[in-house]
Amino acid sequence: MAGYKYKRILLKVSGEALAGKNKCGIDPAVINFVSKEIKTVVETGVEIAIVIGGGNIFRGLGPSHKGLGIERSQGDYMGMLATVINALALQASLEDNGIISRVQTAIAMQQVAEPYIRRRALRHLEKKRVVIFAAGTGNPYFTTDTAASLRAIEIHADVILKATRIEGVFSDDPLINKDAVKFKSLSYIEVLNKNLKVMDSTSISLCMDNELPIVVFNLLISGNLIKAVKGEPIGTIIK
Ligand code: UDP
Repeated sequence: MAGYKYKRILLKVSGEALAGKNKCGIDPAVINFVSKEIKTVVETGVEIAIVIGGGNIFRGLGPSHKGLGIERSQGDYMGMLATVINALALQASLEDNGIISRVQTAIAMQQVAEPYIRRRALRHLEKKRVVIFAAGTGNPYFTTDTAASLRAIEIHADVILKATRIEGVFSDDPLINKDAVKFKSLSYIEVLNKNLKVMDSTSISLCMDNELPIVVFNLLISGNLIKAVKGEPIGTIIK
């Protein structure tokens, strides 16, 4: 594993990343692409756990529940279930690419996936299986970014690789403001003070308190994931 900066990574993939251009649902070509990128990492022996979002299907506090009269907690549970759908889709796609994986859920559904058991997750990782953590933290009022921070800390990951659809963290939305500049590196406190929309403040604070670095990068460019694992300067590092 020489040449790889990180030996155990936690990859955070948002639901939207799986949706491709459609913004909702799962794009088969995109999920297959993501699986192939993950495969390049698995083949190096670097251990990889994944937290998957659900925003492509349902978001507790988002347009999806407007007008339905759904209270926040109920919507959040629906969002957590959405992440399980994505996790199963990703597992199927990984399997299709010859990668062994396990799904663990923070809300028990034993017929569908293993329950989250930290020691069991560690054992899977040691055996070089990809572990997909689904159903977020299992609690409403949290996000899958916070689940990513929490799980990464629990499994002693060396880094969170936060996959986005743009190249890193910018001073402003680069899709709207052409003058927006990309930060190469940021401190946790800068992210919080500048209110940069990278991850929510709970997830950033957890990483700050536990000195866990975050690399924000574009997963949808071929080769970026492995570059991030090698520690090459892509995207933005928050530490
Ligand atoms: N969610 C939650 N608790 C968690 C994680 C997620 O209640 O610990 C709910 C929340 O409603 C959220 C939805 O699940 O909007 C989908 O997760 P998220 O928005 O983080 O997905 P992403 O943006 O990564 O696709």
